[in-house]
Amino acid sequence: TKDIGKIEPDFVRSFQFENKLLPLTWVVVRIDGCHFHRFSDVHEFEKPNDEQALKLMNSCAVAVLEEFEDILFAYGVSDEYSFVLKKESELYKRQSSKIISAIASLFTSTYVIKWRDFFPHKELKYPPSFDGRAVCYPTYEILLDYLAWRQVDCHINNQYNTCFWMLVNESKKPEAEAQARLNAQACLKGTQTREKMELLSREFKIEYNSLPLIFRMGSSVFRLKEAAAVENGVVSGKKLEGQVVVDHCNIIERCFWEEHPHILS
Ligand code: ATP
Ligand code: ATP
Ligand code: MG
Ligand code: MG
Ligand code: MG
Ligand code: MG
Repeated sequence: TKDIGKIEPDFVRSFQFENKLLPLTWVVVRIDGCHFHRFSDVHEFEKPNDEQALKLMNSCAVAVLEEFEDILFAYGVSDEYSFVLKKESELYKRQSSKIISAIASLFTSTYVIKWRDFFPHKELKYPPSFDGRAVCYPTYEILLDYLAWRQVDCHINNQYNTCFWMLVNESKKPEAEAQARLNAQACLKGTQTREKMELLSREFKIEYNSLPLIFRMGSSVFRLKEAAAVENGVVSGKKLEGQVVVDHCNIIERCFWEEHPHILS
């Protein structure tokens, strides 16, 4: 056996590499479900959008903001969530591996614990996992571009998926045929967005803009600046200052950020 007295801690430690995120930059940690295409199949998510699955994701993001004060804002769509840390954050001395793993593991364990609240009649068949990455954005402008990019992605995917599942479910087209038709359309007529909205309206009498906001806008999570009364159908209540809330805002338009300057400051 090895003489443990001969281990030199400084030498062993010297193999750890520095992984500090650039100081005074906006840190965005984006987590994404691993193999959620399969996970959503196995758990029979509604297609194209399972609202309960999205609400479960949102509730995990709220838990993450409640745990980490340095996270100012989060944006989620599908199986992903982006968390924005304040520029000055010194969370884990800005060591990226610690920040990413702490956020991804809290999110994942919350997902498992809360599963029953959102799917009381569905068994969780195997443990989900999420991977994560961190990116530093040097300016406020680029940070807003990043967030707008994720919401643009939400629109593009949602329009494609809504058309795809309408062709499959309503027109009873095989999945390959629906995919081929949408891809051909995208190649022929550059203006993808308008074409898809027209297809939905013409063939399925669906106005894309009347689909639920949570599907079209994704979900934004942040702290309330001041207390507010809320009317939610029959339930009325009060939200407190600093409470973490979920909304489905247009974060592509800069006016959202001009009207809510407190969120990122
Ligand atoms: P990877 O491990 O590379 O991320 P993935 O299978 O998770 O692979 P993504 O590009 O992350 O691929 O896409 C997530 C997939 O999960 C979507 O394409 C969709 O099929 C499914 N999905 C996620 N959330 C929902 C939801 N709320 N309703 C329906 N399907 C969903
Ligand atoms: P940090 O977040 O910095 O890691 P920590 O409280 O987790 O803080 P560690 O240095 O990781 O601190 O130590 C883990 C602590 O958890 C131990 O000091 C001990 O108190 C407790 N602990 C962990 N595993 C056990 C166990 N199997 N039995 C009893 N206590 C345990
Ligand atoms: Mg991934
Ligand atoms: Mg995924
Ligand atoms: Mg994804
Ligand atoms: Mg510990």
